[in-house]
Amino acid sequence: MPTSQVVEVAIPLPLHGHFHYRVPAHLVPLATPGKRVLVPFGKRKITGYLLAPAEAGSAELKEVLEVLDDAPLFTPSELTFYRWIASYYLHPLGEVIKGALPAGINLESRFMCETAEDGSLVRTEVLHGGRSVRMEKFYRALPLLAPPKLKGKGVEILSFLEEQGEASASLLRERFGSCTPQLHRLVELQLAECEEREVYRDPFHAEVYQKDTPLPLNPDQTAAHDAICSALRSEAFTPFLLHGVTGSGKTEVYLQSIAVCLEAGRTALVLVPEIALTPQLVGRFKRRFECGIAVLHSGLSDGERYDEWRRIRRGEAQIVIGARSALFAPLERLGMIVVDEEHETSYKQSEGVRYNSRDLALVRGKLANAAVVLGSATPLITTYHAAMEGRLRYLQLPSRVRELPMPETTLLDARGQKGETLLAPLKTAMEENLAAGGQTLLFLNRRGFATYLVCQECGQVLRCPNCAVTLTYHRGRGKHVCHYCDYAIPAPTVCGACDGGEIVLLGRGTERVEEEVQELFPEARVARMDRDTTRGKGGHARVLKSLEDGSTDILIGTQMIAKGHDFPGVTLVGVVSADSTLNMPDFRSAERTFQLVSQVMGRAGRGDRPGKVLVQTLAPEHYALTCAVEHDFRGFYEQEVEFRREVGYPPFTHLAALTFSSVTARHAEDSASEAARLLLRVKRELKARVELLGPISAPLGKVRGRFRWQILLKGKERPDLHKMLLALRHDFTHPSTVRVTVDVDPVEMM
Ligand code: ADP
Ligand code: ZN
Repeated sequence: MPTSQVVEVAIPLPLHGHFHYRVPAHLVPLATPGKRVLVPFGKRKITGYLLAPAEAGSAELKEVLEVLDDAPLFTPSELTFYRWIASYYLHPLGEVIKGALPAGINLESRFMCETAEDGSLVRTEVLHGGRSVRMEKFYRALPLLAPPKLKGKGVEILSFLEEQGEASASLLRERFGSCTPQLHRLVELQLAECEEREVYRDPFHAEVYQKDTPLPLNPDQTAAHDAICSALRSEAFTPFLLHGVTGSGKTEVYLQSIAVCLEAGRTALVLVPEIALTPQLVGRFKRRFECGIAVLHSGLSDGERYDEWRRIRRGEAQIVIGARSALFAPLERLGMIVVDEEHETSYKQSEGVRYNSRDLALVRGKLANAAVVLGSATPLITTYHAAMEGRLRYLQLPSRVRELPMPETTLLDARGQKGETLLAPLKTAMEENLAAGGQTLLFLNRRGFATYLVCQECGQVLRCPNCAVTLTYHRGRGKHVCHYCDYAIPAPTVCGACDGGEIVLLGRGTERVEEEVQELFPEARVARMDRDTTRGKGGHARVLKSLEDGSTDILIGTQMIAKGHDFPGVTLVGVVSADSTLNMPDFRSAERTFQLVSQVMGRAGRGDRPGKVLVQTLAPEHYALTCAVEHDFRGFYEQEVEFRREVGYPPFTHLAALTFSSVTARHAEDSASEAARLLLRVKRELKARVELLGPISAPLGKVRGRFRWQILLKGKERPDLHKMLLALRHDFTHPSTVRVTVDVDPVEMM
């Protein structure tokens, strides 16, 4: 490629625009697109990404200081993908690229101040970061010329080396304890030689997997598999929804389709929602495939992640499995992308570039002419709607592979129960299950932080008449507020619906429930799984292991434990309250509740003994719950999609959320108002079919000392929505104390 004197560089800072630098003559041969460059930026030096040669303008340009990579980090087609993301999510390209590359590889300069001898301050510039490649020393025995003059440990090491051919320093230390002097001596006497080589940090610690073979597919699986294979053969982008209950054999379809994809010389990407899910799934892939498999997820150290990334970049892995960020795995010749549990909200990145891997899988698949399979037992309403409209091909696995009966599920009416944590039938079931030696899972949705008020007598929850979402109680204002339109009413003390029921604040945490359960069942071994008990590496695995090996009788957890795991010993599942999900101030609350209860039902009775599920709720007649209990996805969909149509939510509109935050309440509010005025003006000018809701104080009105205000945009047509957001980005100015975030297709609107 022709090198140029001027290049375009993307800067990983929240700044929009193009940045050009001059390349000094000696760097010209090295300065190729896809590499990182160190460039001066203001008073700092910063790592940027070289995008392309640029036209030499007349302006004075600063010079590239250094080219940081020998080989490009991204390909032109990856850059096309990054550019797509930057424009869709209205986010600076440099930050998109930074987010796509493995963490920690960037160099950045910081200034350190030290006191000099004369007492003045000296500023030194320090370059930070830059993930290193791990090097390891390997020892090999050399042919003996004369009998060695050695004794003790040296002799043992030498004979070990002769036996093994070669051994790494870390293996030798593991076997012989500290032995550096002996190794030096061996090399000095020319009895062994040492070579330093690059090694990968292996997140699986070289575990060995017993190989298995593909299972003969049942007719539904065969139909799904055939459809995917014909898409693979066509080499045309084909998106699928694979709709099948847990245990219906979706994973087996992924495995066998991926085998076909690999045979055609292409690669495959498998996205899963949670890191806790990866070990079991990775095991299945490792047992099935001989090829290189890389794993990318947030549980890896930066070093491990960097090594996995390099293996993929070098073509040493044909299958990549991972959570959200694995979407950016640098696979080439990508033939198939699986998004397992496509309905999961964890595919959405909630900070920085607010991308959604589930959505971007379709974009990447399109750019790569790949087959994209979205799999779920409870697909998103929007996904199912797209499938019904023919925009996704619909594949269904309607029944479980092994004729496991679905568990018996009962809704427990918690109305009039004075807010008891566990209702009598659940207590009794737990008691019986404990006595019978079965394990119990208790779910609690902690995300119900936004406490809401509910009538204990009739279960009535206050909803916004305009937006049909739950009103959130704002303690500060003493009011129930709609977080979409700011409709507000004062907090009543008695219920208006049943005329007299006492209104209580709902919401309790896992910790309190754990205490209560332990008191109720002092002899039971009770464990808890939530964000607090699973911190650190292997945290999830530790808790899950205790369930697996039978050392836990009752596990209490957030929906973290509802997902994917297969525990044959679990014969009872209790949902402490389905209401915290049902009453989230979010139009998706019914959908989330349906998903959660369906998933929970999939957790019980996976073994030989049938399972039982009890769901406590103040809304036992709600269609999200009744349909879930009846396994009636279609029935749920029909009611939910009608609701969405009436109120104008996705799939009938597209959303974007703007958040304005500042440590000064006034600034956040003023900026939001100013933005709203500007948006209204643009809307009129463009005749955009976009509805503006807000500005209002966010449900999480203050986070980490910052006050937050929001505007929600609802557009019939995506282009209109984007035009308005672009106009805002172009014309809107705000005090530097205010942070503005744009969230396209928001998933949580807190
Ligand atoms: P899902 O991904 O839908 O939960 P899996 O693919 O994990 O389903 O299948 C559930 C169980 O059934 C697994 O133990 C799997 O090995 C087994 N299984 C899947 N397909 C078949 C088949 N065609 N014949 C026999 N067993 C199967
Ligand atoms: Zn409202």
